[in-house]
Amino acid sequence: MKPVQVKLVLLGEAAVGKSSLVLRFVNDEFQENKEPTIGAAFLTQKCRLEDKVIKFEIWDTAGQERFHSLAPMYYRNAQAAVIVYDVTKASSLVKAKSWVKELQRQANPNIVIALTGNKADLVSSGRSKSSSEDEDNQEGEENQDEEDEDHGVTREVPTEEASAYAQEAGLLFYETSAKNGQGVAEVFTEIAKKIPLE
Ligand code: GDP
Ligand code: MG
Repeated sequence: MKPVQVKLVLLGEAAVGKSSLVLRFVNDEFQENKEPTIGAAFLTQKCRLEDKVIKFEIWDTAGQERFHSLAPMYYRNAQAAVIVYDVTKASSLVKAKSWVKELQRQANPNIVIALTGNKADLVSSGRSKSSSEDEDNQEGEENQDEEDEDHGVTREVPTEEASAYAQEAGLLFYETSAKNGQGVAEVFTEIAKKIPLE
């Protein structure tokens, strides 16, 4: 089967794990201290589905603000985007939302966007400790009996909050770990399924 080429761009704040997600997807590897991306990196990987083969041409951008002006070059003709935040850093979701807005205004109107909450291995349950402990009885919620695994890191973005936002904005949504591989193949496979065959 002849592969369909799909240009995909990764966007998100610095250090959320964009390069690590790509490395996991392309080489099935993880590096504990990944050096920051300068400008952008280009990699390719195929994704085989029942009825088609997608060849992703992946542009992994640098997250630093000083590289922001380069981003339109990478997303302008992209058919897909993965916008990444870090589940342990609330400010990274704010940045992710601003990327979503920018793409919805400036990118291809048919672009398939996936919102990805990375570093899920650092936290276990979907709720942030602060929001579930501050309020005594949230409607319909059980007491927090499944304790978060203690890695010394607190979840700052509850799964519910990000997933509700993604649904409202029309995005695919996943929580992933580039470290243990959770969710990574799914992000790319679901994007591949949503790419229209011409
Ligand atoms: P980028 O700037 O968004 O490309 O982020 P990097 O891929 O360079 O990752 C930044 C740091 O976070 C590196 O030290 C990675 O090893 C680490 N990292 C990336 N993804 C994960 C993950 O899923 N879990 C954990 N625990 N660390 C991660
Ligand atoms: Mg990077």
